Amino acid sequence: MEITEIRIKLMDDPSERLQAFCSITLDGCFVIRDLKIIQGTRGSFVAMPSRKLMDRCPRCSCKNHLRARFCNDCGCELHEERAGKADDGRAKLYADIAHPINSECRERIQANVIVAYSLELEKAKLPGYVCTYDDFGEENYATSVEEITYTPMVPHSATTSTATATSSTATTSRPRHTFVNRVAQLEEEGFGSGLV
Ligand SMILES: [Zn+2]
Repeated sequence: MEITEIRIKLMDDPSERLQAFCSITLDGCFVIRDLKIIQGTRGSFVAMPSRKLMDRCPRCSCKNHLRARFCNDCGCELHEERAGKADDGRAKLYADIAHPINSECRERIQANVIVAYSLELEKAKLPGYVCTYDDFGEENYATSVEEITYTPMVPHSATTSTATATSSTATTSRPRHTFVNRVAQLEEEGFGSGLV
């Protein structure tokens, strides 16, 4: 298997621990998106694309994150310690969507991605830099109902631009709590070791 292309989306704030999103192409014919490059305490490491594990509310069947204490839909109180345990005994809250099955492959992907990330940082300093990562806007904030409801009565076209301006302001104050917890969990699992 060869990694034939790596695309990087750098994050705006270099002080944040999430340094970039990235996609890799295998043998010129299969793309995996949504890898993350994260600044760990022992250097940058690559996290595989993962999904939050969910379960269903016993009352209304709505899906909730395993750490949710109340159902998002009906408010039913849920048991706090209901998440299954991983092999190391800690709560298993995420599952990788795509991942290497041995450490040799993991290290190879990681080493290639970290090199590509360094090159991307240099490219980004040049005028006319264009990011090649296919961004589907998953990280953007939706416009809330309140933002639209409480906008003063103005012509329709002006309403649209006001809502857009408000939502882009909200992006700068996005909550980091969940992500920081995820970084701590990945580090405990031994990610980032052996990298500079
Ligand atoms: Zn419910």
